[in-house]
Amino acid sequence: MDYEDVIEAAVIKYYDSHDFEAIFDGCESSLSECPECLRETFIAEEGLCPVCEYELKYKNCKACKIPLSVDEQQYNGFCEQCFILDPADFEEDAH
Ligand SMILES: [Zn+2]
Ligand SMILES: [Zn+2]
Repeated sequence: MDYEDVIEAAVIKYYDSHDFEAIFDGCESSLSECPECLRETFIAEEGLCPVCEYELKYKNCKACKIPLSVDEQQYNGFCEQCFILDPADFEEDAH
C-alpha cells in the first residue's frame, strides 16, 4: 500500500463507522468520488479530499448558503436548486 491507499482506507473506515450517526442527525455525511484522484474519499461536508488535498472551489451556495457538492461546482457557486430557479443569472448557453 502506498501513502494514498493508507489515507483512503482510513477515511473510508472512519466514515463507515460514523454513517449511522450521520443519518440519525439528519445531515449528509458521506464520501463521494473525488474529481481529482477518483478515489471514494471526497468528504462532502468538508468540501475536500484528504488524499490528494483537492478542495471545492465553491463550498457554499452564494444564494441560500447550503453546502455544495462536487456535482454542483458547475453552477458557478450556486446550488442546483438556486441555479434552476434563477437561470437568468448564468451563462446564456448553460442549457
Ligand atoms: Zn482526491
Ligand atoms: Zn442555493
